[in-house]
Amino acid sequence: MSVLNSAADQAICQPLPVLGRDVRVPLVAGGEVTYAALDYAASAPALQRVWDDVAAYAPYYGSVHRGAGYLSQLSTDLFEQSRSTVAEFLGCRADDQVVFTRSTTDSLNLLAAVLPPGTRVFVFETEHHASLLPWRDGDVSYLSAPRTPREAVDTLARALADRAPHGPALVCVTGASNVTGELWPVRELAAAAHAQGARIVLDAAQLAPHHPVDIAELDVDYVAFSGHKLYAPFGSGVLAGRADWLRDADPYLAGGGASKKVARRADGTVDVEWHTTAARHEAGSPNVIGGYAIASACRALTEAGFGPLVVREQELVSRVLSGLAGIPQVKVLSLFGEDAPRVGVISFVVEGWNSSHFAAALSAEYGIGVRDGLFCAHPLVRTLLGSAPDALGECGAPEAEPGELPQPHGGTPSLNAI
Ligand code: PLP
Repeated sequence: MSVLNSAADQAICQPLPVLGRDVRVPLVAGGEVTYAALDYAASAPALQRVWDDVAAYAPYYGSVHRGAGYLSQLSTDLFEQSRSTVAEFLGCRADDQVVFTRSTTDSLNLLAAVLPPGTRVFVFETEHHASLLPWRDGDVSYLSAPRTPREAVDTLARALADRAPHGPALVCVTGASNVTGELWPVRELAAAAHAQGARIVLDAAQLAPHHPVDIAELDVDYVAFSGHKLYAPFGSGVLAGRADWLRDADPYLAGGGASKKVARRADGTVDVEWHTTAARHEAGSPNVIGGYAIASACRALTEAGFGPLVVREQELVSRVLSGLAGIPQVKVLSLFGEDAPRVGVISFVVEGWNSSHFAAALSAEYGIGVRDGLFCAHPLVRTLLGSAPDALGECGAPEAEPGELPQPHGGTPSLNAI
């Protein structure tokens, strides 16, 4: 089933060139594309204000940290101001570094690459794959899924206390789940980590668009998030936090921009002095527009104020949950229980329906787009469904030949909305 040959053709449509083909996108009253409206957990459309800021800057952008020309200097200033804006948005401590990356996934892989030798990593098996997988080649303990926030803290405290020897340790935790939307007890987990001399990184990909994330107040050591979930466009992300591990490790990427001095030694080898600032991990020409767009989104959210946003979001969440509660075939997924605090992310299963078919039907019949599948959190979804791994299908992009549209993938029972 697809939007091409369904009732959506009866709706007001506009042509959109996708993969070289003319796909018709269903529109609703007022000409708004509905499909994105319930898919913000995957990617939120950039704010008009962000596009406007980028458009205003676009004619002037130039290379950063390299040129003496006016545009280069202007761009360098704006790029570094963007870094300061993000630091302020995150409530960074004076000596924290803010590194611009491509995404949360990139940020967490960067952190995994700079861990001091022998670091033991602790991560709940319920994490998004971006938080679960970057550590897998090192010394990592996967903690079982807790069924309450209290159990999460106790499980972590026990695991940390049991570790031997007491070398460097890092805990990685997601602030708000992309599957259940539930909030994790970040402050308490940070306290448990610090009590055992461990550091903690917060995957704020889903939290930052919905709640203030203040590094100092939450007392976390690092925060990672993505621009495309925070109402900026794709392609930029942030890793912010303690400078020492970032400064002491080899650069994530080797190249220009990260290196301060490079000289050929008499023995034919090359000697490099690397920067000790964030530039150490931003080799190559950085994504200046991406950093600027993230800063613009941070400013817009700060000005709007999270208070009213949270109130409005909770109204919408209650409305959706009470609507879904009225449909006997629908079950909303939850790890911590129905009343657990959550952001505006909801997943549900529909009895008797394969999720990709149901999602396709929502799109075709109503122009409503949701994400379906396992949401890049396979172990968590398995726990929530109480099903065996083999019973489930794949997550991520279904494979398609160039020029072909991806087909719905089978056997994957949950849908994600808001
Ligand atoms: N962490 C969480 C909780 C997420 O929801 C996502 C994306 O869905 C990620 C990490 C990865 O973000 P990105 O794909 O922008 O790297």
